[in-house]
Amino acid sequence: GYIGFGQGKDAQVGEAIKKAIVSAKINLVKVRRGCGSWECGCSNPHSIPMLVTGNAGSVRVTLRPAPQGIGLVTGDIGKKVLELAGIRDVWAQTQGQTRTTINYAKATFNALKATNMIRLGGME
Ligand SMILES: [Zn+2]
Repeated sequence: GYIGFGQGKDAQVGEAIKKAIVSAKINLVKVRRGCGSWECGCSNPHSIPMLVTGNAGSVRVTLRPAPQGIGLVTGDIGKKVLELAGIRDVWAQTQGQTRTTINYAKATFNALKATNMIRLGGME
């Protein structure tokens, strides 16, 4: 239910990773999980509560709630980020240069961040 995003630079890989971890801990956000899928309608937090989008550079990621058992329908990078956030089922659409790993990961992160910014209770 939490995820952080960090980048680090250093002449040594080990140090760069350490710096990235520190910056990821600072950029920690809570991910609101839920089941926003009308095809599913359960109350388990296996997906996201609503459709969200995130941007980074030229990359735009749209995440849509999926019913239980669908899995993470997205590219490898997006899948890693969603797995870390504890999400099991989601449909994702990407636009732009998803070959740019950093922007792809960051756009997915920003989409997850957006789950927190929309108030529940009303239908979008
Ligand atoms: Zn469900």
